[in-house]
Amino acid sequence: MNVEIDTHLCKAYANCTFEAPDIFEVDDATGKAKVLLEVIGEDRRDDVERAVEACPVQAIQFVG
Ligand code: SF4
Repeated sequence: MNVEIDTHLCKAYANCTFEAPDIFEVDDATGKAKVLLEVIGEDRRDDVERAVEACPVQAIQFVG
């Protein structure tokens, strides 16, 4: 499973980082969230889905 952040939508609310701090991080340099893991195991799907739901601007999308 892979996820992407739409950096045009992301407003750095950081909700995703609270849901899965080892997967999402707000980059201080860009002021946008980034995905820390290249490949996310299926066992983390629940965490990612919680982050998707927690994002107020729907900036997190599943890809692949
Ligand atoms: S919750 Fe959404 S808007 Fe906030 S940092 Fe994460 S991706 Fe960006």
